[in-house]
Amino acid sequence: MKPRILVLGAGFGGLELTTMLSEEIGDRVALTLIDKNESFYFGFSKFDVMFGNKTPKAVKIAYKRIIKPGVKFCQETITNIDPVAKRVTTDKANYEADILVIALGADYDIAATPGLAEGGNEFYSLKGAERLREVLPAFKGGKVVVGVCGAPFKCPPAPSEAALLMHDYLLKHGIRNKCEISLVMPFGLPIPPSPDTSKALLRAFEERNIQFIPKHLVKAIDPSRHVAITDVGNEMPFDLFLAIPKHRAPEVVEKSGMTVNGWIAVEKTNLKTKYPGVYAIGDVNSVGTPKAGVFAEGAAKVAAKTIIAELEKGEEPTPYKGDGICYVEFGDGRVGKVNVDFFSGPSPFGSYTEASVDLVADKQYFGSSREERWFGKFRD
Ligand SMILES: Cc1cc2nc3c(=O)[nH]c(=O)nc-3n(C[C@H](O)[C@H](O)[C@H](O)COP(=O)(O)OP(=O)(O)OC[C@H]3O[C@@H](n4cnc5c(N)ncnc54)[C@H](O)[C@@H]3O)c2cc1C
Repeated sequence: MKPRILVLGAGFGGLELTTMLSEEIGDRVALTLIDKNESFYFGFSKFDVMFGNKTPKAVKIAYKRIIKPGVKFCQETITNIDPVAKRVTTDKANYEADILVIALGADYDIAATPGLAEGGNEFYSLKGAERLREVLPAFKGGKVVVGVCGAPFKCPPAPSEAALLMHDYLLKHGIRNKCEISLVMPFGLPIPPSPDTSKALLRAFEERNIQFIPKHLVKAIDPSRHVAITDVGNEMPFDLFLAIPKHRAPEVVEKSGMTVNGWIAVEKTNLKTKYPGVYAIGDVNSVGTPKAGVFAEGAAKVAAKTIIAELEKGEEPTPYKGDGICYVEFGDGRVGKVNVDFFSGPSPFGSYTEASVDLVADKQYFGSSREERWFGKFRD
C-alpha cells in the first residue's frame, strides 16, 4: 500500500506542500488534501474586495482545478483530529494517515473584543471585506480608526496598508478633507524587523496626515457611543472602525490538544510536532515567524522535503530559515518590498526596496505564479 499523506487545510501552506509532494513523489504516495471551502483566495485580495476594485467571485480560485498526480481534494469540514493515532474525522468521512500535516491557518475571535460585532467592521475575512464593500460607499466622512485587537495577527504590514489604501479611497471619493485616519498597532514601529520599511511607512503616514498610535491594542468597542477603548483605557471616538480581530487557532485544533499557549509548537528546523509523523505549517504553528503566506509557503517546502527524506530514507533538508518577501501597498498605485529573514542571524532582519509602480507588477506575478503552480494555467 502507498503511504497515506493527509494534508488538512488548502491555504498557502497546504497548497504548496501538496504541490511539492505531488511533483516529487506523486506516483508513490496517496495524498489527500481537505478543505471546508470550495475555493482559495489570497489574503491581499480582501483589499480588492473591500475597496470595490474586484468582485468576490473574481478573487476566488476553485479547488476543483487541482489536478495533480497522486492528489485527491475533498471539500469537507474537519471535526476531529487525533494526532496520536493520526486519525481525522470530517463531516463526511473518517481518515487514517501515515503522515499528517496540519495547515489549518488562524481563525478570528470576534467575541474576544466586546462590542466589535455590534459596532465595528473587520476586513480580515472575505465575508468582512464583502460587508465593507457595502458599508464604504455609504460613509460620508468622519473619524476612521484602523485598530489591531490582539497579537499575533496575520500579515503585519496589512493594518498599515489598510490605512494608506483608505486614504486613497477617501481621496478618490472627494471626502478625505472631511476625515481623520488613525492606526492603532501593538508594535513600536510598523514593521519592527525592517527599520527602513518602517521609516518609509511612517513618512507615508505623515505625508497623508494619518495618525500612528504605536504600542497599543484596541480592547473593546462601545457601539452606543461609537468609541474604541484601548488597552490603557483611552477612548477613541470613531465613525468607522476597521478591526484586525484577535486571532486564535481553529477550534478543531484547540480541541485536539495539540496547542501550547494557543498555537501548535513545532521544531523550528523541520516543522515536526511532538507527535511522530505529524507536522504543522503556517499560521497554525508558533514557529516564530509572523503569520503570513510567504512564511507558510517556505515552511511547506521544508516540511515537504523532510517528509520525502522520511519516506525515502534520504538526507534531511537544509533547516527552515524563516525568510520571505512581503509586498507592501503604499497607496497611490505604488508597492514596496521587504525581504525578511527570521532565523539565519542573531535577530530578525529585513531589507527594504523603495515603493514604486514597477513593483505592482512583481506583486501581481507573486499571485499569478502561485495560482498557476497550485491550480494549473486556466481559469474557468
Ligand atoms: C488583509 C490581509 C492581507 C494579507 N496580505 C498578505 C501578503 O501580502 N502576503 C502574505 O504572505 N500574506 C498575506 N496575508 C496573510 C496570509 O493570507 C496568511 O498568513 C496565509 O494565508 C496563511 O497560510 P496558511 O496555509 O497557514 O493558512 P490559510 O491560508 O488561512 O489556510 C487555512 C485553510 O484551512 C481551512 N480550514 C480551517 N479550518 C478548517 C476545518 N475545520 N475544516 C476544513 N478546512 C478548514 C481554511 O478554509 C483555509 O483554506 C494577508 C492576510 C490578510 C487578512
